[in-house]
Formats: sequence, structure tokens, C-alpha cells
Amino acid sequence: MDIRFSTYNDFLTEYQTYKLDKCSNCEGMRELIDDDVTVVIENRTLHFPELLVLCCNKCGDKCLPEYSKQIIDGAYKSMIEQEQFVGEFVSKSYKKKFEYCKEIDYKYDHKDYYNIPGLCYDEEHSTEGFLTPVYFDRKALIYFISVPDFEVDIFSETYGHIGKKDPEGVYIYDWDVPFGFNSNGKLVFWLGDLNYMDTQSQAILKGFNVDSDHLIVDSEFFQAQMNCTFSKPIIEKQILMNKDSFISNIKKKYNIDLAHLDEECSEHAKNIKRPLVFTEQSVSGVINAFDKVLVEGFNAGRLRELYEALYSENERDAQYGKWQSIRLIKEILLKFCNGIGNMIDVEKLISPLYILHDYRIYFDHLLSVDKQESTKAHIVATLGVQNFSEQEAIYLEEIDRLNKLFQYLVLLSK
Ligand SMILES: [Zn+2]
Repeated sequence: MDIRFSTYNDFLTEYQTYKLDKCSNCEGMRELIDDDVTVVIENRTLHFPELLVLCCNKCGDKCLPEYSKQIIDGAYKSMIEQEQFVGEFVSKSYKKKFEYCKEIDYKYDHKDYYNIPGLCYDEEHSTEGFLTPVYFDRKALIYFISVPDFEVDIFSETYGHIGKKDPEGVYIYDWDVPFGFNSNGKLVFWLGDLNYMDTQSQAILKGFNVDSDHLIVDSEFFQAQMNCTFSKPIIEKQILMNKDSFISNIKKKYNIDLAHLDEECSEHAKNIKRPLVFTEQSVSGVINAFDKVLVEGFNAGRLRELYEALYSENERDAQYGKWQSIRLIKEILLKFCNGIGNMIDVEKLISPLYILHDYRIYFDHLLSVDKQESTKAHIVATLGVQNFSEQEAIYLEEIDRLNKLFQYLVLLSK
């Protein structure tokens, strides 16, 4: 980026103009990136081989963020003092640490806090640095999803929350904080929110802590936290959104389109809502629709292509040509879980899809009486409920498992 100011006053005017997260030329978002920057103020040239600038993710327009302008101002003043006309400014590795999470000592970049629009103008928290983004490998969430003490909720492609249940049962949560995924797929928490967590949870996250890549603005997490432009959908809708996110991740990464019967799926998706009363009839409507969207809504041929993309020829099962959707999804999950497989019970994870299938066949009255009873018993045993008349318990457990499954699929396919 090259930028010229004919007088120091011109620079000051720019310095005092606060840059927002939305581009002033187009609909794009301004993300923070490292750039090679040359600034000319009057007759002095300042060169920064690495300086953070705001760059529109649509039109590429660049501008200077708050903290970088402060650095330029300081550098310019030092040049005047030393009577220099050309200056080279290499960024220092200095990292300021805020008063949050001092013990656990996460890596983060204090410059993000001062540069990303809005973060340091936080009136809710009196101690500086609360809204500093701290970045993690998204696989960190796997642990929290698999341990029942925690509740993880990914309610959009880029926004979720995690809570630790209160062991005393007095409150719903011991702590409960939001998180986001940035456009590089990294997991982001606010430093101040990490401070609310118990030390054990903080320590687990520590192992996944990565350097800042400065990206965060283009996420529902940021937009919701800063601009309140998001409301949390019901869990049934989250499952559908996560299915779409999974399909879009696979399309981007492998160029394979897993979607099947798109129009029919959106018709059935309309029938997916939380029942008011839980009878076999009301539950069957939702279960049927879920079966259509989440099982038949995948193209089995394309799932097989994805299986082939993930498994080399000598790794493939001899029978894979005959497998149907659910089995293929299971094997795809197994591959995605490589290296972390011991933490995840894939058999249990995939179980809600089999249940959808069993349930639908049962409701469609396609079975003999004997077979009906054994299907009911199988559903009851798999979901761990007392008996088949407990439709509400069956429904809630099934939905909970579907939600987990599709959260994993989104998380692991990015
Ligand atoms: Zn733009």
C-alpha cells in the first residue's frame, strides 16, 4: 500500500477519521492484513515492510487502521527529531499482555485489539483488552463436544457458544461464552471470555492455541457481537444449516457436490419445526422430513466419489460399491477423525441417521407386527430411553444426536 499526504495536517485529518468494519466503497468487509506499506508525509518517506492495514474482502480497497496510524505518527516524529528523510521501520516482536488469562499466557496479538474496528471502544468491560481475539485450531472443540460436562452449540457456519454445566445444578452454566470461526476456519474466542473459563478448560484450549492471522470481521460471530445482527435459530434449523455448510465445505475443498433433490429438500425442510406436543403422529412428521433431507438429501454416488477421494485404492473396502449413504458418511467421518479418532465414538455419532431410517419405516407401517416390535425395541435401546411411549425423550435425544453429528461434519470438513 502506498499513501501520500502533502502535509502533516493532512495526515492528522486521516488519523482522526475512524475506519469502520464495512467498506465505504462497496458491501464488503474490512479485514486486517499484513502489508508492505510506504507512507509519504510532506518530504519524508517512511517504509514499513510489514504493517497491519484494513483491506476490503470484496473490492480490495485499503486503508489505515487506528494502531498503525499511531505507529506511523510515532515514526514520523522520530524522523523529524533525527532529521531523517527516508526511514525503514521493521516491526518489533514486542507483544503486550493484557490483564486477562495472565497465568495461562495464550498467544495473541495486542495490535488486533487496537486495530480491528470497534474492539477497543468497548464500554462494557472496564479492564482493557477484553475483546482481543485469541485463535485456536478448530479441532479444540472436539474435546468439548465429546465430554458431557460441556454444551457446545454451533448455530451457524461462523458462530457458536460453549458452556460448562454447573455441577451443583443451581445455574444452567458454570460459564458460557461465544466463539466464532474466521474465514480461514480458525476458532476464535475473546480473551476476556477465556478468562471466565475454569483452569482445566483453559489448559485444554492452550494446546490448540495458534498465532493470530488477524481475520475475524467477516464472521457472524464478529457481526453479532459488535453489531447485533444475528439471532440464534432453533436446534432443528441449526441441523439443516449445518448440513448445508457441510455440503458447501466439501464443494469448496473437493469440488464434489453432495446435494441431492435440492428442491424436494427445501419443501421437506418446511415441515421441520419443534412439535408442540409429542405424540407418535407429531414426531413422525418431523422425523420423516429429517429422513428425507438428511439421508435422501445426499447424493450417494457423490458420497462414493468423496470416499474415493479420501481413501487410496488399496485402503478401500471391497464392498464399498454397494454401500448406501449412511455407511458412506460413516466411513468419511472415520477418515476425517484420523488422529483424533480415539476421542470420538463414530458408531454412536452416526446412530441418529440409522434411527431416522428405522423410525420412518416403522411409521410408514411397512413392517409385520413382529418386526414393528423389534424396531421399536431397537430405537429404545439405541437412544437409551425407557420405552417407546416416551416420544418426547426419544425425539429430544434423536435431535441432540443429529445436532452433534452435523456439528462434527462441519467442523471436520473445513
Ligand atoms: Zn470494498
